[in-house]
Amino acid sequence: MTVTELLTHLTRITFVLLFVVTTIDYLRHRDKIRRDVALVFLCLSANTIVLFLVSLVGFRASWLSQVGAVALIAQPYLLLRLVGYFRAVPVVLQRGALLGMVGSWVLLLFSGIPLTPLATIVIVAYFLIIDGYAVFAFIKGAFSSAGVVRQRLRFAAAGSAMLLFPLLFAGIRTIFPAMAPFVIPFTQLFSVLSSLTYYLGFAPPRWLRQMWQLDELRNYLRQVQQPGETTEARILNELKAAVTRVMGTNQVLIALWDDDQKKLTLEKSAEYPDVSMEGFIQTAWRDQKAQIVHRSTVLSQPDVQLLDGLDAEAVLLVPIATIDLSLGMLMVFLQYGSLFADDDLDLLTIFAQQTAVHLENQAVLERLHLYTEELEGRVRERTAALQRSNEELRQFAYVASHDLQEPLRTVSSYLQLIETRYPDKLDQDGREFIAFAVDGASRMKDLIRDLLAYSRVESQPRKYEPLESQKSLDEARKLLEVSIQESEAAITSDPLPQVKADEQLMIQLFQNLISNAIKYRGDRKPEIHIGAARDKNMWQFSVCDNGIGIESKYLDRIFVIFQRLHTRSQYPGTGIGLAICKKAVEMHGGRIWAESEVGKGTTFYFTIPA
Ligand code: ADP
Repeated sequence: MTVTELLTHLTRITFVLLFVVTTIDYLRHRDKIRRDVALVFLCLSANTIVLFLVSLVGFRASWLSQVGAVALIAQPYLLLRLVGYFRAVPVVLQRGALLGMVGSWVLLLFSGIPLTPLATIVIVAYFLIIDGYAVFAFIKGAFSSAGVVRQRLRFAAAGSAMLLFPLLFAGIRTIFPAMAPFVIPFTQLFSVLSSLTYYLGFAPPRWLRQMWQLDELRNYLRQVQQPGETTEARILNELKAAVTRVMGTNQVLIALWDDDQKKLTLEKSAEYPDVSMEGFIQTAWRDQKAQIVHRSTVLSQPDVQLLDGLDAEAVLLVPIATIDLSLGMLMVFLQYGSLFADDDLDLLTIFAQQTAVHLENQAVLERLHLYTEELEGRVRERTAALQRSNEELRQFAYVASHDLQEPLRTVSSYLQLIETRYPDKLDQDGREFIAFAVDGASRMKDLIRDLLAYSRVESQPRKYEPLESQKSLDEARKLLEVSIQESEAAITSDPLPQVKADEQLMIQLFQNLISNAIKYRGDRKPEIHIGAARDKNMWQFSVCDNGIGIESKYLDRIFVIFQRLHTRSQYPGTGIGLAICKKAVEMHGGRIWAESEVGKGTTFYFTIPA
C-alpha cells in the first residue's frame, strides 16, 4: 500500500466513523440539528459505504458509483442548513444552494462519470460558493460565541475549508489531466486534515470539551473576582455581560426567587417589563434542569407570545443554583437556535452555578460581617464594663488597704499596751490569747503592706525612662542588706544593661526576687546570680538561686496572687510578691517565668524593653 492509498483509506474511515458517531448521537436525542449533522457525514461517506457494500456482495453496476456522487452533491446544501440553525442565511443563498444541488444532479446524470469539464466547473463552483459561505458563517459564529461551542465552530470552519481543496483539485484534474500527479498528494493531505478537523468540530472527545470548558470557567471567575463592590446587582450584571459575550445575544434575562411572595420575579428592567413567568419558565424552574426550548416544541399561547415578543426562535433556560440553594433562572433568548446546544447549556450552567456560589458566599460574608460588628460591639461594651469594674476594684483595694492601716495600728498598739502593762492581771490563757491577737495583727499588717504595694504598681504614676539596671540592683541589695548579711548570701551579677523602665518597679522586681531566693534557701548558703542577655529589642534578666526549687507543676501557679506552696510556719509570707513582679513586668510589656529543679535551685526570667 502506498502512502497515498493509506491516506485515502484513513480519510474514508474517518468520515464513515463520523457518520456512525453522529448517527448514534442523533438516535439518542432525535432532534433535527443532529439529524442534519449526521446527514452531512452520510454525504461525505456515502461513496465509501457503497463501495464497501458492493465489494461485500460482489455486484457491480455503473449507476452504483453515481449514488455516491449524488450523495456528495447534497453535502453543501445540508451544510448550509446547519448554518441556518444558528444564524440567518440570505434567501438568495438558500435558493442558490437548492438550485445548485438539483442542477448538479442533472449535470451528473447527463455527463456521467467521469464528468465533462463544463459539468465539473459548475459543480465545483456550487461547492465553492455554498461551502465557502458555510466556512464564513462558522468563523463568524466562532467569534460571537465562547467555550466549547467556539472551539467546535472553529474546527467546523476549518474542516469545511479544507474540504474545499480536494474538490478544487478534483476539478483541476478533470480539466487538466496532466496536473494529476502534482495535485494528488495535496488532495490527500487536505482530505485527511478536513476529516480530522471535522472530527474535532462535530464529535470532540469528552476530555477535550472539558478542557475548553475549564478555560472559559477560568475566564469567568477572573471576571467575577475582579476588585470592586460585590453587590448582588453587580454580580448579576457580570453574569449577563459574560452570557451576552459568549452567546452573541443581548436578550439575557434573569429571574430571581422572591421568598416573601413565593414566586419567580424578573429582575427589574425597562426593556422587558411584562415577561410572563408561567409556561416553560415555570416548568424549568420546577425541574431545576438546564434545557433548551424551541419554538417548535412550545405549545401554550403565552409561551408563543413570549417568544414572539422577544423575536426568539429558542430559549436556553438555566437554573442559578448551588447544590442546596436555588436562587433563580437565567434565560437566554436566541434569534436562531444553537448548533451545539448541549455545550451552550453546559457553559451557561457553569456560569450560573459559579454566580450562585458567588452570591451565596457574598450573603454569608455579609452575615459574617454583621455578626462580627455585633460581636465587636459587645466586646467593646464588656471591655468598658470590665475596665470600669477593674478600676473600681483597684480603687477599693488601694483605699481599703490604706485606710485599714490606721485602725490596725491602734489595735496593735493597744494590744501591746495590755501585754506590757497588765502581765500580772492576766492568767496563762489570757496571755496566750493576747499573743495570738498580736500575731494576727502583725500578719494583717504584712498583708496590708503587700496589698498596698500590689495596688500601687498600677495606681502610682510611672515613668519609663532610660535606666541603668545596675543601679536598681544596687538599690535593691541595699534594702535587703540585713537579710543578706544574716543569711551570708553571695550575690554576683553580669554587667547589667541600660533599659527603658520605671525605676521604682525595677528595684521592686530585684528586691522581691532576691528576697525570695534568700527566703527559699535550703541548707546551703544562698548563692544568687543576676544575669542579662539581649533578646531582639528586649533584655532578658535572670535571677538564679541554689535554693529548695519548685516542682514543675507549680511553676505557673506561683505568679497568682495569694498562691503559696508552703505554710506560714515553714516559710513566712503573703503570696503577693511574685504577683507584684508579674504585674510590674507586664507594665513594661515584658513577661516573667521560672525554671526550676527541686533541691537544686530556681531561675526566674523576666524581659524588659532595651
Ligand atoms: P511569698 O514568698 O510571700 O509566699 P511569692 O509570691 O513571692 O509569695 O511566692 C509565691 C510562692 O512561690 C512561694 O510561696 C514559694 O513557694 C514559691 N517561690 C517563690 N520564689 C521561690 C524561690 N526562689 N525558690 C523556691 N520557691 C519559690
